[in-house]
Amino acid sequence: MAEPAIAALAARNDKPETFAVVTYGCQMNARDGEAIAQLLAACGLVQADRADARLLVFNTCCVRDNAERRALGNIRRAVHDKRSRPGMMVAVCGCMAQESGGSAERAFPGVDIVFGTHNIRRLPEYLLRALDGGKPVADIWREAMDVEDVEELASGRGPGHKAFVIATRGCDNFCSYCVVPSVRGRERSRPMDDILRECEGLLSGGVKEITLLGQNVNSYGAGLGDGATFARLLRAVAGLGAPRVRFMTSHPKDLSDELVEVMAEVPAVCGHIHLPVQSGSDRILSLMNRSYGRERYLERLAKLRQAVPDVGVTTDLIVGFPGETDADFEDTLSLVDEAGFDAAYTFIYSPRTGTKAAAMPGRAPDEVSRERITRLIAAQEARTARVFAGLVGSDHVALVDEAARRGAREVSGKVERGISVTLPGGEGLIGRFVPVRIVSAGHNTLRGTIREG
Ligand code: SAH
Ligand code: SF4
Repeated sequence: MAEPAIAALAARNDKPETFAVVTYGCQMNARDGEAIAQLLAACGLVQADRADARLLVFNTCCVRDNAERRALGNIRRAVHDKRSRPGMMVAVCGCMAQESGGSAERAFPGVDIVFGTHNIRRLPEYLLRALDGGKPVADIWREAMDVEDVEELASGRGPGHKAFVIATRGCDNFCSYCVVPSVRGRERSRPMDDILRECEGLLSGGVKEITLLGQNVNSYGAGLGDGATFARLLRAVAGLGAPRVRFMTSHPKDLSDELVEVMAEVPAVCGHIHLPVQSGSDRILSLMNRSYGRERYLERLAKLRQAVPDVGVTTDLIVGFPGETDADFEDTLSLVDEAGFDAAYTFIYSPRTGTKAAAMPGRAPDEVSRERITRLIAAQEARTARVFAGLVGSDHVALVDEAARRGAREVSGKVERGISVTLPGGEGLIGRFVPVRIVSAGHNTLRGTIREG
């Protein structure tokens, strides 16, 4: 799509010469951050270090209070820096901007441009307006127009052997603690042809691993009305010749038999699933509006493990949800033991304005939540250690990502189930698949050797 604003901005001599995008939060935001960078590059701005950039774009997250506070501190500092750096511009976007709605300008004083999650493609236009008017521009749209709006504009990614591809945006689940549905809008699935076209382009550019993204990616297809399902999408992406396909995040309620089948049958689809459970207590799961109970979760997991015996399962867990008792928390601990996660992201419940849970009684005191999360982390670490120890001696294929430590001639990569492995070898291995044998297990990574032949 040709956008007049892109050409107009490219032709301007008074635009900021350089930019940096500072992204907080989830992979969806990471992909949006990439798209913003592509858009700005198309306008003739050059990506630079954060310390030198003339335009700073803060791509924010509001899912928990601490993410918000971190972003706000950095935005304030950037606004302060503008005083000593004439011509510098600061923009704020992402979920905090979306949430600020009609009071965007008041929420981010001194910021030049505020835009939401649904109108990223308008950034070149906002830059032109800010340059012309010399005053702040704020524009937050209540609902998305189109799921492929940014994707379509922001094609042509930089080099790299891995790429995120958006399959769905938004979320319809309304978990009672979560602000995502209100800042990301209703769930929209991208037409399969658009996704496949983007994937084809990436694969012909040398990408080895595609990660399909969505807040609830495995409900892909709902609303498209053409029989598309997430399992079919996975098959189709693998069918393009993608060496590896990953996906996140999956909701337990949509872990269908069809998806299990595809994971078992299609070699390119990695044996890893991020399947947030949030709590092990049925009472809390119901208050959270998660639409499954503990038994249902474990039953789905058992089905998956039966079909894909070496599947890696990771999860998200919340402690201190309103009304969570010691007994509820013990249920979470026992679930962690039973489910055998490779890893878990653990969070203390953070009340979010406008969510149902924010009005629920019985929030645990902070010290109780802190004690619970400490115990939960210890329980998961013990479990992770057992999983890792069990992998010693096993064979895998790793996709090498990066140098592990500068000068150490060691690289790190990920095996199929998503665990990092450190290997001897030089940077020439980056972006390559190597057969590995796990030789030892450390705290958070595995160590391997390259298998010959
Ligand atoms: N769509 C994904 C991710 C949502 S946000 C999913 O449903 O799994 C990522 C994680 O943040 C959630 O899984 C949840 O564990 C956590 N989270 C979301 N809102 C939270 C809140 N108000 N307080 C604490 N943790 C929260
Ligand atoms: Fe939030 Fe629940 Fe949607 Fe995940 S599924 S984004 S936790 S509302």
